[in-house]
Amino acid sequence: AITPAALAAIASSAKHGILFKGGAHIENMGRLKAIAFDKTGTLTIGKPIVQEALISPSLHEEDVNRIVSLIEEHSMHPLAEALVSYTGKHTGEMTHFKDITGSGIEATIDGTTYRVGKQKFADRSGDFFKHDVERLKEAGHTLVFISDETRTIGAYALRDTLRPEAKVAIKRLNDLGIATIMITGDNEATARAIANEAGLTRYIAECLPEEKVSQIKVLREEYGTIGMIGDGINDAPALATADVGIAMGEGTDAALETADVVLMKNDLVRLSDAIRQSRKLNRIVL
Ligand code: ADP
Ligand code: MG
Repeated sequence: AITPAALAAIASSAKHGILFKGGAHIENMGRLKAIAFDKTGTLTIGKPIVQEALISPSLHEEDVNRIVSLIEEHSMHPLAEALVSYTGKHTGEMTHFKDITGSGIEATIDGTTYRVGKQKFADRSGDFFKHDVERLKEAGHTLVFISDETRTIGAYALRDTLRPEAKVAIKRLNDLGIATIMITGDNEATARAIANEAGLTRYIAECLPEEKVSQIKVLREEYGTIGMIGDGINDAPALATADVGIAMGEGTDAALETADVVLMKNDLVRLSDAIRQSRKLNRIVL
């Protein structure tokens, strides 16, 4: 049963852009010790843009762009859209296509099999741009590599922007004694740069989509009551596992349906407001 005090709190939170799907979630919100954050679309606005393309000196950029465009046109990943708008529209046929969630894509074009995606998946070592890759990662860029069957032929550096309120939101949570942890599939150096920029307590990089759930369980052991905030279909299992699953209002249906709490205006600062209010309520009710 829901207490009148909890009902009043749900109503007043809703007016301030936070939708609690039940009184128990307010209670749990007041007990949070840590919040795990998805990166793309949650801490960042989720619209990455290609900033730089590194192309093998033995090739023409236009030819590499064509391959990337043909492949990424068939992907729903946020990086795919950014890559296609950079590489432009091209024509050609694919004879094989495999989308590997959290890694990238493997596809065959004109008889050659290519890989497009993260370094561990698609880099077959093309030492020609090693220094540029390190420099770009340290500046917080996400790197997407492309290789043919024998070597790396290019890499694209994409940058997404932090939500304007992210730093303030994180600081307020940290001031309330809540640990803030980013969980991302992105590489170590890029994750570190973004985590430093946002002022996060900690980050977990190179996390495969299916590992997000086990990371939430490990964090719960370490910190106690844990929240998870995300926007994607990929985040839904982790949202369900956390003590409080929080979805961004602009998130996908899967995230919105699974979450216990919805941040209706995508405003991360509301998190600390909600926690303070929930703590107060817990003191009154108990
Ligand atoms: P995130 O934690 O930001 O949601 P993902 O788990 O979706 O990241 O992906 C991890 C990494 O795999 C990306 O940073 C990217 O390098 C690579 N990747 C995944 N899907 C694609 C794709 N369709 N095209 C290019 N790269 C991809
Ligand atoms: Mg996301």
